[in-house]
Amino acid sequence: MATALTWLGHASFRLDSPGGKRIYVDPFLSGNPRTPESEKTPERCDLIVVTHGHGDHVGDTIAIHNELGCPVVAQVELRGWLTRNGVADDGQAHSPNKGGTVAVEGVKVTLTDANHSSSAPDGSYAGEPCGVVLELEDGFKLYFSGDTNVFGDMSLIGRIYSPDVAVLPIGDHYTMGPQEAAVALELLGVPRCVPSHYGTFPLLTGTPDELRRLAPEVEVLAPEPGETIEL
Ligand SMILES: [Zn+2]
Repeated sequence: MATALTWLGHASFRLDSPGGKRIYVDPFLSGNPRTPESEKTPERCDLIVVTHGHGDHVGDTIAIHNELGCPVVAQVELRGWLTRNGVADDGQAHSPNKGGTVAVEGVKVTLTDANHSSSAPDGSYAGEPCGVVLELEDGFKLYFSGDTNVFGDMSLIGRIYSPDVAVLPIGDHYTMGPQEAAVALELLGVPRCVPSHYGTFPLLTGTPDELRRLAPEVEVLAPEPGETIEL
């Protein structure tokens, strides 16, 4: 069984793993203008991973956890905030920090660096923003950079984890745009990219076509919101 990735608009994704696990990354659904109505309320979930504390990434994490009881992995300070706001106490098991890996439901979750900012939706401290490498049951690896600009140490992420696909923001303004994303792809050495964090609001102007023009050697897969691609 292949890996299926569904874009839910903005930086929100649903991943169905080869082992049948359903993983949400940054599940910003109810308030997301690009999320299709049919995707606003998850029917099942085995794992949620959150890259940083901003509301457009934490999104519906607490509500989904309360409804479905799924584990939530996030950087230690953000995970602490989530615990204080209704997510079950994990005894630190699902609270790594950058460079750390936790295995949950047969999926390895590694937090990486990201250059951005982070605070919880109520303005409280939420640690530092992160990227995430997910290694699925069959060894397939996806790198979600989270919100970030390009940075040279992406070459270390490529060297150490060799991701099969990179999910990168391209919207510009709050994150990198296509010009920096093209260099990020070069540093990572990945053959495929799924762009994110674009088209949600008028300020986010980057487009997949611009990235394709700047990174012609990389396969840029750009599903519509609600569309699933097989990886
Ligand atoms: Zn964001």
